[in-house]
Amino acid sequence: MGCSNSGKTTLLEKLIQILNDRGYRVGTVKHHRGTFEFDLSGKDTWRHARAGAEMVAMSTPDGLGLVKKLTGELSLEQIIPFMSGMDIVIVEGFKTGSQPKIELVRGAISQQPVCPQEELLALVSDLPLDYGVPLFDLNNSTGVADLIEQRFLLPAEQGARQTLSVEQKKRYHRNIQLAGVGEAGQLRLLQSSVLVVGTGGLGSPVAYYLGAAGIGRLGLIDADTVDYSNLQRQILHSTPDIGRFKVESASEKLLTLNPDLEVITYPDRFNQENAGELVRTYDIVVDATDNLATRFIINQACVAEGKPFIYGGVLSMVGQCMTILPGKGPCFRCIFREDPGDKAIKTTLDVGILGSVAGIIGTIEATEAVKYLLGQGDLLVGRMLTMDALGMNFMEVEVKRDVTCPECGHL
Ligand SMILES: [Zn+2]
Repeated sequence: MGCSNSGKTTLLEKLIQILNDRGYRVGTVKHHRGTFEFDLSGKDTWRHARAGAEMVAMSTPDGLGLVKKLTGELSLEQIIPFMSGMDIVIVEGFKTGSQPKIELVRGAISQQPVCPQEELLALVSDLPLDYGVPLFDLNNSTGVADLIEQRFLLPAEQGARQTLSVEQKKRYHRNIQLAGVGEAGQLRLLQSSVLVVGTGGLGSPVAYYLGAAGIGRLGLIDADTVDYSNLQRQILHSTPDIGRFKVESASEKLLTLNPDLEVITYPDRFNQENAGELVRTYDIVVDATDNLATRFIINQACVAEGKPFIYGGVLSMVGQCMTILPGKGPCFRCIFREDPGDKAIKTTLDVGILGSVAGIIGTIEATEAVKYLLGQGDLLVGRMLTMDALGMNFMEVEVKRDVTCPECGHL
């Protein structure tokens, strides 16, 4: 965090206090361009200590103060070992040029005084800036503390991997390059979990792309076995898989693609009995089913558990997709109130489905899931995206929450 003028120290003090109150040990580093000076009352380092920082360091061209006096200008990487034992080290950075009140939360420690944009997770400013990352008001110290806790402290508590291996840095390089991802974002994906309900025409691209992106834990549920009629669109399965459980065939392909994954298979139907327990153990659910009845069950379980889910549906040459955040946007039942029963609804068995149409919608679902897990971009919440592949038209329909919805009306 760094790059600001007045307001910065106050924000840092508040962050130290809030994180202290939540039981974290906080260290701070104050960068100073001038000569080294030991701590003086009223200086920033003193204020950090007063606020509750357990280790406070001042880095200057002359040395590092308070923790240990050293000679030579130290990089952040050299300072960090002194801070071992801290849950988090907050670095107050340089002010660059005329750059006004901006606080940067870094995705990773680097030697650069200003973090590159792809490492930028959030801005704190009273200026109308737009870097494509969350913007916090200078007084919103609780919001910044929440972000720090969610991005750095809670994953660490869960004993998750803290660094990428050399191989992982190569494998996920194109992800890491993306604005708002970086190594921290990739680690976050590796620590995430997604339940994919269905491993057919939609589930194949969903699971393939989530697996390739490095979603650490993928749950696959499907009771069906692979049939010749599936292979025209269900690209996770191949001819030698005929007769195998789809979840087994899918798991094998995904682990070949990416050995980082943990794939959990359920050769079972997603039903009222198992829905709640399944949904509870994943971060987000992707609907890759082919029937309304199962979608109602997914919706009910996700609303009850407060889990987001991505709805996707395809038929013939058309498809649609929407993201449901329970309590924050309309749920599936807000839109489709009553199950019209199997007979009233045409299925892919009746009118066919082009494989690539399922591919497009499944790929959009996977994209939404990754965006949600990274906390990036605008989700399809309250916006039903529909596609007509014959005309190749995409259209967005605004949908609103229904306060009388039997599932989410009470939220
Ligand atoms: Zn609803």
